[in-house]
Amino acid sequence: MTTVPPTNPSTTDPFQGREIWFLTGSQHLYGPETLEQVAAQSAEIVALLDASSEIPVRIVSKPVLTDTEAIRAIADEANASSAVVGVIAWMHTFSPAKMWITGLDALRKPFLHLHTQANVELPWAEIDMDFMNLNQAAHGDREFAYMASRLGVTRKTVVGHASQAIVREEIATWARAATAWAHVRGLKLARFGDNMRFVGVTEGDKTEAERVFGVQVNTWGVNELVERVESIGEDAVDALIAQYIEAYDVAPELLPGAARHQSLRDGARIEAGMRSFLEEGGFGAFTTSFEDLGDLKQLPGLAVQRLMAEGYGFGAEGDWKTAILVRAAKVMGHGLPGGASLMEDYTYEMTEDKQKILGAHMLEVCPSLTTSRPSLELHELGIGGKEDPVRLVFDTDTGPAIVVALSDMRERFRLVANVVEVVEPDAELPNLPVARAVWVPEPNFRTSAQAWLMAGGAHHTVMSTAVGAEAFEDFAEIARTELVLIDRDTTIRGLRKELRWNGAYYRLAQGF
Ligand code: MN
Repeated sequence: MTTVPPTNPSTTDPFQGREIWFLTGSQHLYGPETLEQVAAQSAEIVALLDASSEIPVRIVSKPVLTDTEAIRAIADEANASSAVVGVIAWMHTFSPAKMWITGLDALRKPFLHLHTQANVELPWAEIDMDFMNLNQAAHGDREFAYMASRLGVTRKTVVGHASQAIVREEIATWARAATAWAHVRGLKLARFGDNMRFVGVTEGDKTEAERVFGVQVNTWGVNELVERVESIGEDAVDALIAQYIEAYDVAPELLPGAARHQSLRDGARIEAGMRSFLEEGGFGAFTTSFEDLGDLKQLPGLAVQRLMAEGYGFGAEGDWKTAILVRAAKVMGHGLPGGASLMEDYTYEMTEDKQKILGAHMLEVCPSLTTSRPSLELHELGIGGKEDPVRLVFDTDTGPAIVVALSDMRERFRLVANVVEVVEPDAELPNLPVARAVWVPEPNFRTSAQAWLMAGGAHHTVMSTAVGAEAFEDFAEIARTELVLIDRDTTIRGLRKELRWNGAYYRLAQGF
């Protein structure tokens, strides 16, 4: 049995060692010669997918399945393997679907139905009944999909030939979501301190989160982190300072020998202490709270930004739900241009025809959102009652993005997502001492905000500039979690109905 070690975001490629199994259905009716052809042509499809640069994990060919026992056995095997993040099935020939009932019912891994065939063009002049018997996915897959639908199997359905880019891209996006799901299922999340007092949307049912998402959410007294921070030696601090000077435009007052250098050393010590705590505990995500800093000298800004850039999930003010989303987005976007970060809708440009949203946070926006060189600065922070915190300041790269929030709606979780376009600020922002993003939401500012408010979306989000709506749709399907997507097709009338219908559906879907 292949096993994959627990993930450490700072050192582990999330796709390393992960695989997707490719199952091909058939039956014995056609004789051994046809089954050999099925196996060979299935291997060709797998080779096309496995060689594709878009798909980030291995696609592994499995023997052709022709009976109930073999299908059930391979489902059990896939469930038991930590390497397997998902399963793809294709019925090259006709595979009577009653043989799939117990296997599909047992399968607990993300599932994709690829509706394809071996050939692209039909060889019209040569088609005989042998060809028809071999190449009958057009109805073999319908027989299979009937059973999957009857059993209520959650799946993504992809149609087309593996040589077509759109097909590989849809599979690749799902493979990214499936891998993110594998990481979320094994995610340990450390909360340093509790939620910001009196805040509603950052609260939630942590026990239910472990049932639904598999995430372990637990809290450590912040002074346990402080002890770790204080144990960090000067050499480790010096090493980080050297990295900062290499990677960022460090404000002159923070440089070695300058007046405020000690603040940079304090920030570096917090970073090293946090990383050490997270690595030792096997955590892939964490939260902080400006109201609960114990003896930490500063609110962690730079430290959080750099840990997010390494792949850690993060939420501010104790917001563990957003920390989960940031970790999922980090995995889904790994290796792609762009990044993912905690984001917060902060303030608006409301002028007619110029409407846009300025997003930021007190400090903690991930530098994976920019390809520019951030500046490392020190500024006063009016809240929290601590020393001035160091932070990276930059503008998010322009281009397509998505913001996604996770809300606890009492008996279920709801994802709310908005497709947006990150744009240049209308003017320089010389007095804003934090990293930020400026965006125009789809379908337009007024409808987007109205829809978001109607859906009860949170003010904290993950912003991803690496993956878009399809990845989060795939992730939500895999997680069996409601997703309210606000995009160019959204109308308020339609959304009002969707929310009501979803309310009924998601209550019924969880049974009693
Ligand atoms: Mn906040």
